[in-house]
Amino acid sequence: MVKKFNLISTNPPKNLKDSYNRIARKLRISVTDKCNMKCIYCMPSGNIKWIENKEILNFKEIIRIVSILTQLGITKIRLTGGEPLLRPSLENLISDLIKIENIETISMTTNGFLLEENINKLKSAGLNSLNISLDTFREERFRVLNGISNLNKVLRGIQKARELGVKIKINTVIIRNWNDDEIINFVKFARDMDITVRFIEFMPLDGSGIWNYNLVMTKKEIIKIIETNFHNVISLDKNNSYTSDPATIYNFDDKKGKIGFIPSITDPFCSNCDRIRLTSDGRFLTCLFEKEGYDLKKMIRNAKITDQEIREYIVNCYKMKPEGIVKLIRINQLRPTLNLMHTIGG
Ligand code: SAM
Ligand code: SF4
Repeated sequence: MVKKFNLISTNPPKNLKDSYNRIARKLRISVTDKCNMKCIYCMPSGNIKWIENKEILNFKEIIRIVSILTQLGITKIRLTGGEPLLRPSLENLISDLIKIENIETISMTTNGFLLEENINKLKSAGLNSLNISLDTFREERFRVLNGISNLNKVLRGIQKARELGVKIKINTVIIRNWNDDEIINFVKFARDMDITVRFIEFMPLDGSGIWNYNLVMTKKEIIKIIETNFHNVISLDKNNSYTSDPATIYNFDDKKGKIGFIPSITDPFCSNCDRIRLTSDGRFLTCLFEKEGYDLKKMIRNAKITDQEIREYIVNCYKMKPEGIVKLIRINQLRPTLNLMHTIGG
């Protein structure tokens, strides 16, 4: 439902600024809620009801919304899903997005399964970088954790993207007693490939509701495992007092490979958050933990509403951005399935 604000203003702001003084710079666009995997920390179990095609924003609608958002300070785009590579002709969207004034980078978060056959055209279209999700090096575990066979296909996609010179980071969700015995293998992978592997703390955004605090392998625990069994790590964030990157990055004294941590549960980055999100069905989310968001699709499908009115609406929605997961932790409100990750895109 479109919430109503007073849409008339003579001097619209150039930035999206919320009541905590956070300014939005980055937009994550979920281009589909569909996925070819069924990761246990993300998808609902059982039959999933996908969003109907007519409810999904078409490329023209996405481009219009992004153009409006660039007038409000958005400069970086990340495409996500569901699995973004399931969206047909995605390269056309990338090449149109990169042409929008003020857009500096287009990146993508993918599970990598369809990467080897698509990376060439994505790169030619203008894709700057990739975050590829990988949670195990064991085929059998891949089937259980990610709900699909053929882990080698993902590994080939990573290798091919690397050979083509695309910037890559690996996203890894470590869950206690599921894949925590592979932490050192991930560190070795980062070093062998000379890339960054980022460990993400398991968040209560899982569709099947398995989340509980005991399953979360914390940043502290992972560092302890690495330092006990492998090598000391060196923080690279010393000279960087302000960063909007949710990951803190570490390397080793020989500078081969890097590891990062996204401690969403034990040290959330809400106070520096500069992200907004657009779901595939056109909802505008100011925070990962916002339930429904704001119905931009309804606005842009109304022929009478102008870009200026949409811009004003977005500015007013953003002012109400909630504090974030940090508040849910403070008031002890963490529980499974706070939101469906595959509809938002992370
Ligand atoms: N399908 C793509 C992929 O898996 O990379 C993009 C969408 S996925 C929702 C985006 C990121 O969210 C992935 O890196 C995934 O590991 C992460 N993710 C999903 N559910 C999560 C959860 N409950 N806690 C932490 N990270 C999660
Ligand atoms: Fe699909 Fe990504 Fe969710 Fe896994 S994390 S089920 S690959 S959307």
